[in-house]
Amino acid sequence: MRVLDDLASVRPFTEELYKHLHAHPELSDREHATAARMADELRATGVDEVHEGVGASTGVVGILRNGEGPTILVRADMDGLPVVEDDVVEYRSTQTAEIDGGTVGVMHACGHDVHMASLQGSVRLLAQHRDAWSGTLVVVLQPAEETVGGARGMTDALRALVPSIDVALGQHVAPYPASQVRLSAGPIMAACDELIVTVHGRGGHGSQPETTVDPVVLAASIVLRLQTIVSREVPSSEQAVLTVGTIHAGTKSNIIPDTARLGLSIRTYDETLRTRIREAVERIVQGECAAAGAPQPATIERTLWAPVTDNDPGVVGTLQPAFDAEFGADVVPMERLSGSEDFSELAAAYDAPYTFWFTGGTADERYAAAEAAGTLLTDIPSNHSPGFVPVLQPTLDTAVRAMTTAVLAHLGR
Ligand SMILES: [Zn+2]
Ligand SMILES: [Zn+2]
Repeated sequence: MRVLDDLASVRPFTEELYKHLHAHPELSDREHATAARMADELRATGVDEVHEGVGASTGVVGILRNGEGPTILVRADMDGLPVVEDDVVEYRSTQTAEIDGGTVGVMHACGHDVHMASLQGSVRLLAQHRDAWSGTLVVVLQPAEETVGGARGMTDALRALVPSIDVALGQHVAPYPASQVRLSAGPIMAACDELIVTVHGRGGHGSQPETTVDPVVLAASIVLRLQTIVSREVPSSEQAVLTVGTIHAGTKSNIIPDTARLGLSIRTYDETLRTRIREAVERIVQGECAAAGAPQPATIERTLWAPVTDNDPGVVGTLQPAFDAEFGADVVPMERLSGSEDFSELAAAYDAPYTFWFTGGTADERYAAAEAAGTLLTDIPSNHSPGFVPVLQPTLDTAVRAMTTAVLAHLGR
């Protein structure tokens, strides 16, 4: 019997687990109950080794050994987001958490609950059908994807548990039709760099600007000049985004402050361009500081970064025919996304090839209606929005089928 002919046997488990996780989201690096549940389910499935607290945070690793063959790493992320969930389903989250002294709602608004539940479903199916495959499956439940440190925080401890892998596989749910899988080779998600720029002026009385170096005017000029990087320095054949998302200075309208701080977010799909843009930011910021007569150069800190997700053509070449056979016309090429992921850092730690694909979460009819009306962007909630609540099925089945198919494409007998 084909492993996926037995899909119905894990469906109640996957759905119940998903509803529980959806109703009980936890923020990045606080996934304690989630991680404990993930470890419990791996043990209940009969995974040979289960390790908790792997790395700097709440990471969980399960190892399913099944004879000779390659070692395949599969990953799901565990964290939710500070979002108050819309009232759409009876298993909605009403959880809250404290951040910086304030209370926020918590929601699985990026679908990481889909990733965890479907991965557990796939592992259970594979454990029930050990005769159908051969090799080693390394199951990674990763914390803190949303704050980008989670994968990086696990790699050293992971390599101590599992010295080498042959391929890493991951998937993400998105507001595509829930029957669909989207797969492409090459760069599919952007690299992201967050920079905090602090410019130093000289403060003074708002009525006497001649005695000061005004960091507000300096910051304003930097914001405008930074817009020329993408429009004037990036070739039209390449893509990049540079956003100044925050600007903070001053306390009172008649005081010229000493400093101003700018928060930049940069997205690129190519390492060379990524370096060139960061060099251009440095050049423009320091050039504007010099032009303003700033008493000292700006400080530029990189506070957050994630690599480009660049799917290996060889792995995609193995997955494509397997997905085509399983999903037929529901496998479609993936367009590039400007969002970022830290999944590839797990593969990079082993210098192993990887592929990351997307599955849908919107009812097929609803998606088709919005597409026909030209309202996809406004009518279908996207990841991170309070209305991003994937339809239960076929979302979970599609994700279980995709991950199981991908593992068997590498380990199947
Ligand atoms: Zn997200
Ligand atoms: Zn996500």
